[in-house]
Amino acid sequence: EDGVWEGAWQIVGRLRAAGHAAYVVGGAVRDRMLGLSVDEVDIATSATPSEVLALFPEAVPTGAAYGTVTVLWGGKAYEVTTFRREVYPTADRHPVVVFGTSLEADLARRDFTINAMAMGPDGEVVDPFGGREDLRRGVVRAVGNPEERFREDPLRMVRAVRFAARFAFAVEERTWEALVLLRLELVRVARERILAEIEKLFRREGIGRGLALFDAAGLLAVVRAQLRAVAERLFPRLSPDLPRAVLVWVWEKFLGDPPGYPEGFFRLPWPRRVRRAVASLEADLAELSASPPLAGLPWPLVRAWAEGDEERAATLFSLLALLREAGAERDLVSLPQEALPLPERWADVRAHLGALPVPTYRDFPLELGEFLTRYGLRPGPWVRELRESLYRGVNAGRFPPDPAALEAEALRLAAHLGGQE
Ligand code: ATP
Repeated sequence: EDGVWEGAWQIVGRLRAAGHAAYVVGGAVRDRMLGLSVDEVDIATSATPSEVLALFPEAVPTGAAYGTVTVLWGGKAYEVTTFRREVYPTADRHPVVVFGTSLEADLARRDFTINAMAMGPDGEVVDPFGGREDLRRGVVRAVGNPEERFREDPLRMVRAVRFAARFAFAVEERTWEALVLLRLELVRVARERILAEIEKLFRREGIGRGLALFDAAGLLAVVRAQLRAVAERLFPRLSPDLPRAVLVWVWEKFLGDPPGYPEGFFRLPWPRRVRRAVASLEADLAELSASPPLAGLPWPLVRAWAEGDEERAATLFSLLALLREAGAERDLVSLPQEALPLPERWADVRAHLGALPVPTYRDFPLELGEFLTRYGLRPGPWVRELRESLYRGVNAGRFPPDPAALEAEALRLAAHLGGQE
């Protein structure tokens, strides 16, 4: 059992011992049922914020207006929130929070059935909307009437897509219909809130599926138009796992140029370094289907490695892995399947490349400059081609990686490529 749960049950225990109702609620219950590790546990209680503060002297009232008190326990922070519901005066207003309701009302205000469950220390589950069953079936379903719920808070549409993408769930049919119907309502939601959800979507797995779902729902165009102005803030904060160039590429591919706008109109002023990396990515992608793979790997990737540019190779790998994930859902980019022969992890690709007879140009047993001088050959752009052909030949096993064999082959190629006087 994670330490975070241990602390949660102790907090719940203390609240209950004082005569209050208390449960773990929301995402932690969902993730625990899915067998995922949990690092944030939220607790809901009938105790008022001041009652909570009285029981936990070191607690901090972090969201007094929302009834939230943060309790530090075992080095972890727990949000303890008084049962509440929100009242939506009109859709574009901030909801009014009402305290002093029941656990059931607190669960009913939550967005999706899978997020609307509570759990006690003995594993007892309160699940009034069939969240457990939806988890089992892999369904994101609005609590109550989906149209009403999306009108109340249109951000829930983005959240529906986010959870579907994250767990590879389906969006339940009526929920999906409401989403498609109401998608334009999203323009009323504060950009920062949308951004926070999209950032989570981008950071975790499922980015390809997420974008495909956004697109299918017609949300992409809405989000795109809205988020342009804050995009600069999004990207620097994104996961360090993905190369920035990949994120920019994805952004521009899917969010960049809405139909009807001139090409490049929505391009953001990314730093030069990033710009260049994106341009390299584009060039490598364009070349994917033009050159046959080497040693089972896409040629542009191998070439970047051969040139000693591991970053470029790894960036292309990340993007291809991402595209493969997306392609499984829908044909997001037109790449021939055979252009994507990829191992699962970059570490495997690296090992594979490192084990080639001649991994990089620097490892050539033949020094090309010397070779040219010795035979009175004129240097020029053709030498690049020569080097590539030698590299491909030796690594495809067409001749052994020794200086004599390479030299013989280089002479043959030189005649062919026209490097002679
Ligand atoms: P994640 O781990 O992906 O952030 P989460 O479920 O913890 O998932 P939060 O955004 O932290 O997501 O929200 C916590 C809980 O609050 C949710 O599980 C849900 O019950 C409720 N909730 C959050 N946002 C909304 C909303 N816009 N409308 C209704 N309920 C919401």
